[in-house]
Amino acid sequence: EETIGANFARAVGQHADREALVEAAGDGRADAARRWTYAELAHDVDAAARGLLAAGVAKGDRVGIWSPNCAEWTVIQYATAAIGAILVNVNPAYRAHELQFVVRQNGMRMLVVAPSDRTSEYVAMARTALAECPDLRELVFLPAPPAPGEAVFEPGVPASGEETTWEALVARAGEVPASAVEERAAMLSAEDPINIQYTSGTTGFPKGATLTHRNILNNGFAIGELLGYTPEDRVVIPVPFYHCFGMVIGNLAAYSHGCATILPGRGFKPDAALRAVQDFGGTSLYGVPTMFIAELALPDFGSYRLGTLRTGVMAGSTCPVEVMERVISDMHMEGVAICYGMTETSPVSTMTRAGDSLAQRTGTVGRTMPNLESKVVDPATGETVERGAIGELCTRGYAVMAGYWDQPDKTAEAIDADGWMHTGDLARMDEDGYVMIEGRIKDMVIRGGENVYPREIEEFLYRHPDIQDVQVIGVPDPTYGEELMACIILRPGAQPLTAEDIAEYCKGELAHYKVPRYVDIRDSFPMTVSGKVRKVQMREEAVARLG
Ligand code: ATP
Ligand code: MG
Repeated sequence: EETIGANFARAVGQHADREALVEAAGDGRADAARRWTYAELAHDVDAAARGLLAAGVAKGDRVGIWSPNCAEWTVIQYATAAIGAILVNVNPAYRAHELQFVVRQNGMRMLVVAPSDRTSEYVAMARTALAECPDLRELVFLPAPPAPGEAVFEPGVPASGEETTWEALVARAGEVPASAVEERAAMLSAEDPINIQYTSGTTGFPKGATLTHRNILNNGFAIGELLGYTPEDRVVIPVPFYHCFGMVIGNLAAYSHGCATILPGRGFKPDAALRAVQDFGGTSLYGVPTMFIAELALPDFGSYRLGTLRTGVMAGSTCPVEVMERVISDMHMEGVAICYGMTETSPVSTMTRAGDSLAQRTGTVGRTMPNLESKVVDPATGETVERGAIGELCTRGYAVMAGYWDQPDKTAEAIDADGWMHTGDLARMDEDGYVMIEGRIKDMVIRGGENVYPREIEEFLYRHPDIQDVQVIGVPDPTYGEELMACIILRPGAQPLTAEDIAEYCKGELAHYKVPRYVDIRDSFPMTVSGKVRKVQMREEAVARLG
């Protein structure tokens, strides 16, 4: 029942001189990295917190951050937590319209805006939001990354009190007494909302999950415990901070255990992630399955020295068994965990752990986290199904969000009167409590009255030697209601596969109604920024193409 600020202060007290944060330079030069010890990070967090107080940010005010990962993101996360402002993570892929939706939805007061080579574009969109959204009073521009040969973007002299730079905000720290942050901290409780995170929008419009200190700090801490984190660990975070994966499984799990975090640079690049492990001694590496797939597929994969790795987290969507096996053997990530969860549960509700068998670690998303409960229910009746049967997974306990921000109806639909969060995911739970995710209720295909779970077919097709990645979707069909389409990314150099090839491959292996009728060869899949395949969009595209 601690606040994030109090937890961080304890870590700083215990590990003041240990490294806390490394931000690799975009060009991969290890000597150009920016580095902070815990004491240095605490200093920057305190200055930012006082700068925010000087700018008049009050407890409960919404402060947005719209930026790819960078060291300042971490500073802002802890500075807002220290003074009880509610951090709103804004997806860096959002453009003008989506930005304004989020700004208005939560009545955002201040927005911290990305650096990066697209800064000027971000600046223009942020200025429009400032002009159009009455609650938004101030923009703060982050410094451009120091990249060689790249002009540093200057947002210009602030025309009014409405725009400032990060440096100028931090420089205002002196306007408030050193004790101001402590005074504010004394007013905070673990039950206060501290964060609004919008869901990935994989299945529809993003919803703002309101999360408290208690929700996310306890979840981050528990994840770190199960990964066996000690202050010797160095956690490489190529996953976005704007999502729980980066900020909770990443920063909160790491800092609550005295670990260092390593940022491989802005935006995901598979080579940069592996270089960060190599150059900075990463012991733990995170990713959604597609990130690990891309890393393992690098032509020079074998040339990276990854021997320091021992663990990591794979989460966000289903991971093919073969990829999991290669992560364990070729990346030395013996202790890699699969985590399952959702933004609304802070995020992790089930997780594999040390001691689980290879089959449990490759074929399941583990067991329920300590101090949480899971059950699998019949979506129609709400009754718990027999062990082993498919139903909707529900989660209850400390990690369940306070609610969707300003959407009480949606909250009531998701969290029932007994406190169970209905995940919208289909799952099975075995006798020992291991959970298998079978896909989303919305992705289930009903072909000729048979329920088809795309996941099963994807796992099967994934073993095909020419297939690098595959997604199976349902498309409308006059006879069967829905038909299956396999969307395939081929391995480099492979010959295109036809529907006949796939039918031949499935023959004798899969029931006839599970054999995809259509094959679509693609270069990539439409993805959310958090690395999830947007099946809804793929279905729309497929429907348009099939006519
Ligand atoms: P939206 O709710 O806006 O449609 P979203 O559900 O993708 O988007 P998130 O909260 O980021 O938004 O993702 C949670 C979902 O991700 C889960 O409900 C589940 O479908 C999927 N997921 C997360 N982890 C795993 C995993 N390990 N295996 C399979 N699926 C997973
Ligand atoms: Mg969701």
